[in-house]
Amino acid sequence: MAERKVRVRFAPSPTGALHIGGVRTALYNYLFARQHGGDLIFRIEDTDSNRFVPGAEEYILESFKWLGIHFDEGVSFGGGHGPYRQSERREIYKKYVQVLLENGKAYIAFDTPEELDAKRAEIANFQYDASTRGMMRNSLTMPKEEVDALIAEGKQYVVRFKIEPNEDVHVNDLIRGEVIINSSILDDKVLYKSADELPTYHLANIVDDHLMEVSHVIRGEEWLPSAPLHVLLYRAFGWEDTMPEFAHLPLLLKPEGNGKLSKRDGDRLGFPVFPLEWHDPKSGDVSSGYRESGYLPEAVINFLALLGWNPGNDQEVMSMDELIKLFDLHRCSKSGAKFDYKKGIWFNHQYIQQKPDEEIAELFLPVLKEHGVDVPFEKVVTVVGMMKDRVSFVKELWDVCSFFFVAPTEYDEKTVKKRWKEDSAKCMTELAEVIVGIEDFSIEGQEKVVMDWIAEKGYHTGNIMNAFRLTLVGEGKGPHMFDISWVLGKEETVARMKRAVEVLK
Ligand code: GLU
Repeated sequence: MAERKVRVRFAPSPTGALHIGGVRTALYNYLFARQHGGDLIFRIEDTDSNRFVPGAEEYILESFKWLGIHFDEGVSFGGGHGPYRQSERREIYKKYVQVLLENGKAYIAFDTPEELDAKRAEIANFQYDASTRGMMRNSLTMPKEEVDALIAEGKQYVVRFKIEPNEDVHVNDLIRGEVIINSSILDDKVLYKSADELPTYHLANIVDDHLMEVSHVIRGEEWLPSAPLHVLLYRAFGWEDTMPEFAHLPLLLKPEGNGKLSKRDGDRLGFPVFPLEWHDPKSGDVSSGYRESGYLPEAVINFLALLGWNPGNDQEVMSMDELIKLFDLHRCSKSGAKFDYKKGIWFNHQYIQQKPDEEIAELFLPVLKEHGVDVPFEKVVTVVGMMKDRVSFVKELWDVCSFFFVAPTEYDEKTVKKRWKEDSAKCMTELAEVIVGIEDFSIEGQEKVVMDWIAEKGYHTGNIMNAFRLTLVGEGKGPHMFDISWVLGKEETVARMKRAVEVLK
């Protein structure tokens, strides 16, 4: 068979916030499409109107924009296979339902919910299938005239898929290998409901994958049980030749590894399970998002890429471009991937180090503003460059470097006790004078003068430096001493020293 153009799709149902597992599915589709020079389609599967949540579609689109996952066609992107919102494709599905009915691959069923309940009560493990359809109210058991009359009368009905029993259905999965399922365990799935004139997920999904020329279906493991049915539907339509290849991605597991990751795990352990903050329009609940929690999109991408896949060596930090080169569906694991959220924090730390100081400073500005700090951008960049290796989130920068922007008004009691000696006030007064006289106030310039002075006086370097630090920082932390005084400048350094001497004596 000739090589097909790679066309993949991400097809969410707009039922709420996009779960982080869905983001990973979209990412793997994106990597696969880019690697093969193919297309990535954004399709909205909204045929279940009961579960529709306003705002969900916009939320999903904004999430991908933030993450840098681009679609080639689909809802809001356009393209030649539209419309891409299933609720706008009713007429198309109706036509294909008709095809199945005419080919005898599907039938009309009138059984009411009450009648179905009665059957379930009567027959243990009742399933609507080859063994039971003969005793139900459908177009296989009723004369055509009666069926037509009921439809004309406006009676509600569904269209069911007529699954032939006792047939092994083979699903070739790129990750799981060959999965074989006997058709007898499948029920005659509802494909269409007259009540809302809409198809169910299964029919719409297959018709669209076919019409949109989808070459590979890459989706979460939870859809694996539907795959045999999808294979049978492709066959019922006579579309075997263009059946996509399947790849069902491993489940995301709780950080502890037992069971499926849920929103509750995030609440319990304090990590987001959604890309962006989500405001539930019904309950009013607000759920945290990776963006609002201070994660960089590159870190989220890198973290997710490695949940269920690895490049075959121990390389961990990879840009989107590298991921596109290295990604390989065959290297995806079959078993679930533990959601090690601490690894996500680690990645954020890595990307903060990797990004230019200017970019991190830009992100830090709002935090400074919140604290009433307004200083030249250059100074922020310098401080960020000195301090960013200590943080995993931009907002943590404030805690480690606020003293650069705000002079201490109090001095940490413990540090004072330990480091402010009897002669500290005298020494700091002397040192302040020495500093006033320094001409070359560069880091090296200061260091030379101060070290010479200490040697000349025969002072203890540690004691001097500890006291000096206390006067500038207010406690015992911070980077190299002359880095601090250099950033503060001569005037501010001397002022802080004098104030400390006054307060501490
Ligand atoms: N609408 C389905 C979902 O919400 C799509 C599943 C599929 O990719 O076939 O995940």
